[in-house]
Amino acid sequence: MSVEALINQIEVYNPDADFDLLRRSYEYSEEHHSGQQRRSGHPYFTHCLETAKSLIDLKLDVPTICAGLLHDVLEDTLVTRDDLAQLFGESIAQLVEGVTKIGTYHFKGRTQQTQADNYLNLFLATAKDIRVILIKLADRLHNMETLSFLPIGRQQEIAKETLEIYASLAHRLGINRFKSRLEDLAFKYLHPLEYREIASLLAEKLDEREAYTRKMEGVIVQELEAGGIRAKVHGRPKHIYSIYHKIHHKGVPFEEICDLIALRILVETTADCYAVLGALHGKWKHIPERFKDFVGLPKRNGYRSLHTTILDRDRPERGRPIEIQIRAFQMHEVAEYGIAAHWSYKEGLPSTSESQSIFAWLRQMLDDIQELKNPYQFIQSMKWELLPDEVYVFSPKGDLYSLPAGSTPIDFAYKIHTDIGETCCGAEVNGVILPLRHRLQNGDRVRIMTNSKAHPSRDWLRWVKTTRARNKIRHWFREQDRAQAIELGRRFLEMELRRQHLDLRTYLKSPELLAFAKKLKLNTIDDLLMQIGNGKESAEHVVNVLHPEPDTREGREAPVDAVRPAPAIQLEGIDIALVRIMKCCYPIPGDEIIGYITRGRGVSIHRAGCPRIINETERVVNVEWKPEILTTYPAEIAVQCDDRPGMLGEIATLIAQFKVNIVKGNLAHSSMPVEGMAHDRLTLAVNGIEQLEAVMESIRCLKGVQTVSRIAARN
Ligand code: MN
Repeated sequence: MSVEALINQIEVYNPDADFDLLRRSYEYSEEHHSGQQRRSGHPYFTHCLETAKSLIDLKLDVPTICAGLLHDVLEDTLVTRDDLAQLFGESIAQLVEGVTKIGTYHFKGRTQQTQADNYLNLFLATAKDIRVILIKLADRLHNMETLSFLPIGRQQEIAKETLEIYASLAHRLGINRFKSRLEDLAFKYLHPLEYREIASLLAEKLDEREAYTRKMEGVIVQELEAGGIRAKVHGRPKHIYSIYHKIHHKGVPFEEICDLIALRILVETTADCYAVLGALHGKWKHIPERFKDFVGLPKRNGYRSLHTTILDRDRPERGRPIEIQIRAFQMHEVAEYGIAAHWSYKEGLPSTSESQSIFAWLRQMLDDIQELKNPYQFIQSMKWELLPDEVYVFSPKGDLYSLPAGSTPIDFAYKIHTDIGETCCGAEVNGVILPLRHRLQNGDRVRIMTNSKAHPSRDWLRWVKTTRARNKIRHWFREQDRAQAIELGRRFLEMELRRQHLDLRTYLKSPELLAFAKKLKLNTIDDLLMQIGNGKESAEHVVNVLHPEPDTREGREAPVDAVRPAPAIQLEGIDIALVRIMKCCYPIPGDEIIGYITRGRGVSIHRAGCPRIINETERVVNVEWKPEILTTYPAEIAVQCDDRPGMLGEIATLIAQFKVNIVKGNLAHSSMPVEGMAHDRLTLAVNGIEQLEAVMESIRCLKGVQTVSRIAARN
C-alpha cells in the first residue's frame, strides 16, 4: 500500500493532518527496514504498514500513525532514539521508545485475572502515554494475523499471551474492535479443534440465519418508523471466541447460540435508545433476565448500550430469541474504539513535551469529557490505578507483582512467602546484586537470595513499605523475644534453684510446677518461665512456693544501691520489670549499657565499663534503651571552676534553661585541690546522653569554668 493510499484514509477524518511528516516516516521506515524479511517472506516493512493501518482504523492522530510506521526501527535497525527525535520530533521518538521498552516485558507463567490488570498498569506506567499501548496492540494484531508462519511452540506462547494480556488490555481500554479480533485469532491457535467445530457449525446455518436477519431488520425498521423513531438497524458479526465462552463458561447449548441472531440498533440520542427499547418491548416479548441497561450504568471501561433479547413469534412453540443492542452513535464510537475514541486527532492533544505524563493527560481528558456530560467511568478507574503509588515487578519466572511505590526487595520477598522474607539475605535486581533497602522500579526483575541461617533485622522495619512485611517482621521479633524471655526465666530459676541445691531439669518436670503454673492461668512451663523472664513473677517466689526455704539468707548478695523503676530498658528486646539502674555509674539513655543478673533481684543496669562489674562475664546480659524515653535519669557531673561569688548561681541558671533539674548538688565548695578553684558535683535529671552533653557543653562555655566532666563511676 502506497503512502498516498494511507493519506487518503486519514484525510477522511483529519483533512488538516501533517501529511509531510507522515510521508517522511513512511519513507524512513521503508528505507531502514529494506532487505529485512518477515517469516512470511514478505518485506518487513509490510508489518509496519499494517500496524499503521490499524491505527488509522482507530482514527488516531498523525504522530501515533508515524510512530506505528517506525515502531520497530529502534529494535531491528541501527537507528537510535536521538535520530528519531531529530528527524521526527521528541513526541514520536518517545512513542517508539515506549513501544520498544514494553516489548521487552515477556509474559511467562500462568496468569490470573489480576495479572492482566497488573500488565496494563505496568504498561501504562512504563509507556507514560496511552498511545504507546494502542501502537503495541496494533503491532500485536498484525503479528497474530501472521502467526501461522512461526514454529508451533512459539504460536502457542504468543497466542496465550495475546489472549491473556493483549485482549484483556484491549477490553480494559474499551477497544472491542481489537479485542474480538485478538481473541478469535488467539483462540484459533490455542484450541484449533473447537475453533474449527464452531466455525463450521456457524457456516452450516449461515444462509438461513442471514436471510432471517435481513427479514428482522426490515420488520424492526418498519416498527420504529411507525413510532416516529429514526434508526439504523443491522445484523452484527458473531465472534467465535465469545460463542466458545458462552458454551463453556455459561453452559448455553450450542444449538441455541447458533439459532440466535444478533442485531444492533443505532440512534441519535440517549432518549431515542429508550424509545427504541419501549417500542421493541411493546411489540415483542422479551426475556427479562437478559435485559441490561449499560446506558444508565456504564461498564467500567466506558461501554454504554442497552441489551435486550426479544422473542420472535415466528416460531409458535417457542419464540426465536433475537439479541439486540441499542445505542447512540456516539456510544457506538466508544464501544468500538474505547479510549482511542478520546484520543482522536480532534481531541486537541496536550503538549507533546517530554514532561507530559499520563496523569496530566488524564486530568486534561477528564476536563474535556466533562462536556460530554457522562464522565466515563473507566477514566475514573484508570485514574486511581495510574496514581504513582504502585510499582510493578517481575519474579524470575516472569510473574508480575504489584507493590506500593518505594517498596524494597524485602517487601517483595515477604509478598512471595513469609519463609522467603524471613530467610532473605540479598537481592538481585535485573541481574545486579543490590542492597535490600533498594527501592524497586517498574519492570524490575527481582530474585531474592535466601539462606536458612539468615533472619530479619530491625533495620528492615525502617525500609519496608508494605504492612504485610512490617507485621511479619514484628511478629518474628516478638517470637524471638518470647524465646529470649523463656531462656532468661530459665536462667533466673536455675540460679535460684542452685542456691537451694536443686536441679533445674528435675524441677521443670515436676507436676507441682505445672500445677502451680495452671494456678496462675498459664498453660505451659514455658509460659511460666516467660513470666519470670519478663519479671512478672519472681524466680524466688516460684521456688519458695514449692520448696519453702528455711530463712537462712546469708550468702545472698548484699543489697545494691539502685534507682527504681527503670521502664525504658529493653533486655535483649524484652521489657523487664525487675530491672534497676545502678547508682554506682548512673547510666542514662544513650550510654552503652550492660545488664547483670543478680541473685534473685532481677537485672541491674550499669554503664559498660562500670568497675563494679568489669570482671563479670557469665551473668552479663545484653540490654539496650528503648527508643522512646519519657522519663529522666540521674547523671552525675563534676565541674571545676573559679571560686567566686555568683559562679554556682550562673551554673544553676544555665542548667535551668535546659529545663533540667538539679536533683542533688554539692554546691558548697568541698575540696579545693587548687587555690581559688571550686570543685562541684552535681546530679542532674536528664532524659539522655544528648541532653546531658548539651548541658555540659554550655557550662563549659561559662566564663570561669575550667572543666566539666561526667563522673565515670563510684566504687
Ligand atoms: Mn512490530
